[in-house]
Amino acid sequence: MNIHEYQAKQLFARYQIPIPNERICVTVQEVKHAFLTINRPMVIKAQVHAGGRGKAGGVKIASTLQEAEENARQILGMTIKGLKVETVLVSPAADIKRETYVGLVADRNTKNIVMMASAEGGVDIEKLAATAPEKIVKVEINPEVGLLDFQARNVAFHLFPDSALATKATKILKQLYACYIHSDASLAEINPLIETPDGEILALDAKINLDDNALYRHQEFEAFRDITADEQKELDAKNKGLSYIKLDGDIGCIVNGAGLAMATMDVIQLYGGRPANFLDIGGSSSPQKVIDAMTILLDDSNVKVVMINIFGGITRCDDVAKGLLTAMNQMEIAVPIVARLTGTNEQEGHEILKGNHRLLTASSMREAAQMAIAAIK
Ligand code: GDP
Ligand code: MN
Repeated sequence: MNIHEYQAKQLFARYQIPIPNERICVTVQEVKHAFLTINRPMVIKAQVHAGGRGKAGGVKIASTLQEAEENARQILGMTIKGLKVETVLVSPAADIKRETYVGLVADRNTKNIVMMASAEGGVDIEKLAATAPEKIVKVEINPEVGLLDFQARNVAFHLFPDSALATKATKILKQLYACYIHSDASLAEINPLIETPDGEILALDAKINLDDNALYRHQEFEAFRDITADEQKELDAKNKGLSYIKLDGDIGCIVNGAGLAMATMDVIQLYGGRPANFLDIGGSSSPQKVIDAMTILLDDSNVKVVMINIFGGITRCDDVAKGLLTAMNQMEIAVPIVARLTGTNEQEGHEILKGNHRLLTASSMREAAQMAIAAIK
């Protein structure tokens, strides 16, 4: 689960990681009011689940009430990477002497946690990673042992050669690690971690991804949930026993089994098509699942054709056919449907669908993909 910067900073604060005072606003009026309260230059930051807000114009500093109002008007309601900004974080603007970067991420290859750090942080970190990767140090942390003192000190001195600052940074790195571990995060990042002119270190930005598989251990994180319409559809599908992931193509897929669903998407791509989704109706079939799946797909205006690919095992082709027939009778379906049913009760399935002129039937997965692609053209 992705959480917002202001929420990640709330978590940081619990671990005594120094952050600026923060306040959340959802209207221009609230931003103006915050400016009058803070009574000094203030930074206004878009809260969306996307990085690169600074470059997109989603981070602005206001020195006057008028600027605060103008910036708030611009940022509230703007769209960053397809996401509408509805909330802004406001803080007293920090004075920056230097921006550094530090991040923690799980590395599945080495089964360790990697701490990455760079003395040159800020909005160009991706560019740095591409052009001068040697400027990013990486330290492997064995999760059974934890972040060792010498590892934290090494990284801290890399970021802040001055020993007084490095001492402060060492503490912050350990707090960040504790936050990451206790929260069951899969990523925790501070970019920038700044040095101020008066020798303080502050986390000016915060990014945390929480591991969905561990959320059951953290009831308190439910309050952080802020999901998009697409994510809501995926959750609704999950509640109906379907695994649905929206993608950006135009061929809607209904498949049984995650492996076959992946293979179906591959075959569609192989023949030049683009899947609109991953959808696994699961191992056991019921006609209702097919109806639910059709409802979800047809709700996506990108879907120009539906491809049904069933390899019947426990899933019975006649159950799928029944669901399909009911869906076609109940719903207004404006797009072509290609069905390939094979395996358990295949004959019965075809019998049920026989004579249905709105349905294109294919005998193999390859043929189904080609028919679906042709149906769009
Ligand atoms: P991001 O672009 O989404 O990563 O948003 P950040 O919160 O990291 O802000 C982007 C950049 O804006 C930072 O790297 C800083 O250079 C600048 N910035 C953000 N907050 C402040 C602040 O309080 N004071 C100053 N002077 N600059 C800031
Ligand atoms: Mn940042």
